[in-house]
Amino acid sequence: MKVLKFGGTSVGSVNSILSVKKIVEAIEEPVIVVVSALGGITDKLLATSVMASKGDVGYEREFSEIITRHLDVIEGVIPDKMQRIEVQKRVMSLLDELGNIFKGVYLINDLSAKTSDTIVSYGERISSLIVSNVIEDARLFDSRKFIKTIKQFNKHIVDFEQTNQLIKETFNPLPKVSLVPGFISSSTENGEVTNLGRGGSDYTASILATALDANVLEIWTDVDGFMTADPRVISSAYVIDRLTFTEAMELCNFGAKVIYPPTIYPVYHKNIPIRILNTFNPEAPGTYISKEKVKEEGKAIIKGISSINDTCLITVQGLGMVGVIGVNYRIFKTLAKSGISVFMVSQASSENNTTFAVRNADADLAVQVLDEEFALERAQGDMNDTVAEKDLATVAIVGENMKRTPGIAGKLFGTLGSAGISVIACAQGASETNISFVIKFKYLRKALNSIHDSFFLSQYKVLNLFIAGVGTVGGNLLEQIRIQQPKLMQQNGLKLNVVGVSNSKRALFLREGLNLENCIDELKKNGEESSPEHLKEEILKMNIFNSVFVDCTANSAVSDLYETLLNNNVSVVAANKVAASSSYSNYIKLKETARHRGVKFLFETNVGAGLPIINTMND
Ligand code: ADP
Ligand code: ASP
Ligand code: MG
Repeated sequence: MKVLKFGGTSVGSVNSILSVKKIVEAIEEPVIVVVSALGGITDKLLATSVMASKGDVGYEREFSEIITRHLDVIEGVIPDKMQRIEVQKRVMSLLDELGNIFKGVYLINDLSAKTSDTIVSYGERISSLIVSNVIEDARLFDSRKFIKTIKQFNKHIVDFEQTNQLIKETFNPLPKVSLVPGFISSSTENGEVTNLGRGGSDYTASILATALDANVLEIWTDVDGFMTADPRVISSAYVIDRLTFTEAMELCNFGAKVIYPPTIYPVYHKNIPIRILNTFNPEAPGTYISKEKVKEEGKAIIKGISSINDTCLITVQGLGMVGVIGVNYRIFKTLAKSGISVFMVSQASSENNTTFAVRNADADLAVQVLDEEFALERAQGDMNDTVAEKDLATVAIVGENMKRTPGIAGKLFGTLGSAGISVIACAQGASETNISFVIKFKYLRKALNSIHDSFFLSQYKVLNLFIAGVGTVGGNLLEQIRIQQPKLMQQNGLKLNVVGVSNSKRALFLREGLNLENCIDELKKNGEESSPEHLKEEILKMNIFNSVFVDCTANSAVSDLYETLLNNNVSVVAANKVAASSSYSNYIKLKETARHRGVKFLFETNVGAGLPIINTMND
């Protein structure tokens, strides 16, 4: 048998539910189908409950949108009129219950965790009811009856002993198609509705696959597989064919949203492989996750990059820590007692500080409990107050092939250095499957792009160009880029991405709905004056990886910016002769700055539009 899990987008519309039907009905062996709530419904249920609890009557409008969304889907997926009316009736009765709960929350202005968990459970209860009526001969089950949880540090943890036994009983004998709502569960102690955390339907499917010894766990989602990085951040990310459980676990723990992190452990334990597949492109081979480590010739040495954008670094520091046994024990014991999870630790061998990463939301409590724990040492001056630095991000590069391969850390930190990003803390375990580091949040996108660009052979390399001066030279350059772009992409694997343009008056960036054409039209209009200084600030603020400043002006105020731009890791290409043509020593100085920063300064000048002088001199 196999277990298939379909996520929110896979059951989010009429067409996607019909694809699910096609996929499931084509399978011959018995299957358990786990479904999420319709895409976006969980968020909406939570937002509506918060509105109601604040006495905002607008919750009624949100609730009626929830009703319409479900009724529209039923209308589109169940062609048989009698059956449709029956399903509408059953769904409306659940929605009536939900409406009453919202009303109660609205009237008493109170939303307890228990009520919130009850409200959010309707998403999966309704979606599973609908889908069970779409797939031929599907039998609907209620996962609250067999996924049991116990409470630990305010979180609901699966009670595996009870759960496994109940699953075995429930699915014996195993129907051809079983339909199970994901995410929801109930408390072992009092039977109240609980859930497995956001994204938890993956976990429901994994628990079922493990308890019933499935051949495979298939996670059907809206991308072609597990990708080298989050495709919403890295446009050139691509699908990874194979991952080991360890690699998948490392990537998920560090924020790759495609699988909910606890999902992997149960199946890993029983050696049940996972496949990640696309409901919207079922023919794609997807990603296969198993125990076997496959050496893939010619493939990148790291498998993927992921990140947690919500990071706070906490540092416990003091000379009183050096050589004292048990300080780390006390730190982590104190954090554990308060239910604070630590996802990265770094300690220098000098032992006078220990730094670790927690979520921003846990930071204040962590500081408070650690300051209490070390109150005596702080009073004696042996230790300092605990320090928290917020608004950071953690990035991890992962791959089992990194083991015993020299140079990976060097390449990683070299890449970050060239992008002008400084690393605040880093950690690598002796398993050598993961190198993690913490940077300022504002550099996250740039860091991910730079690392992806440096470690993975994408189909193309992106250069982000800012073009100063759109007169004859700049205008012709833009036209050439436009004409040659397809060829450059195909033959040279190069994508020239123009991110902004300027003339002597203004600088405009292609964001907030501006495209190149309206940018240039806009520039021609008279706008407010913009100084080169302003231009420089704007470019530095862009904070883009692989950025190149192309100077097509003849303006010395613009060429005066080169040094600063290069020092901020922006490459400079100049048709402007002022900086380099008039002074060879200045040219050499700029070249040196660029070399030092790991970027490029490219300039050429010629005689009578013919002989290239600088190349000739260098040669
Ligand atoms: P589902 O609703 O099917 O559970 P999710 O939204 O939870 O889907 O997860 C799929 C999404 O995860 C993708 O649409 C993608 O935007 C995001 N994602 C983040 N990192 C990765 C990655 N490394 N590979 C693939 N998808 C990723
Ligand atoms: N519907 C839940 C959520 O959005 C669970 C899931 O989709 O996996 O978090
Ligand atoms: Mg998910």
